Amino acid sequence: MERSEIMRRVRSTDTTPELIVRKLAYSLGFRYRLHKKELPGKPDLVFSGKRKVIFVHGCFWHGHKCKRGIRLPKKNREYWTKKISTNMKRDKNQVEELNKAGWSVLTIWECETNDQDSLTHKIVEFLNERRA
Ligand SMILES: [Zn+2]
Repeated sequence: MERSEIMRRVRSTDTTPELIVRKLAYSLGFRYRLHKKELPGKPDLVFSGKRKVIFVHGCFWHGHKCKRGIRLPKKNREYWTKKISTNMKRDKNQVEELNKAGWSVLTIWECETNDQDSLTHKIVEFLNERRA
């Protein structure tokens, strides 16, 4: 498989988890904005009033330590390893920057969107949490 073809496949499946989270948050009565450009990492969901953001991360692209995340394509393994570790470093920096600016950050992994109940619980808990 060509590298570009892999990217296309991975990317197209990556949009679904974000939609699941958006719909769920909306149905729970939370209102948010999408991809605020002025925030580090352009978080997927931004709850300005609460100063909270949610990232929805693809397990593959962001190096989640789950079944799906640790499976690398056989070809160009070095390329992928490097690319994914760069993504992970960037993710970490973005969370730190957001925290420094007073934002709370929740990361939801693609694999977690398969379980509606625990996902609901996670979102509600995060958004209802009082800030210290
Ligand atoms: Zn995962």
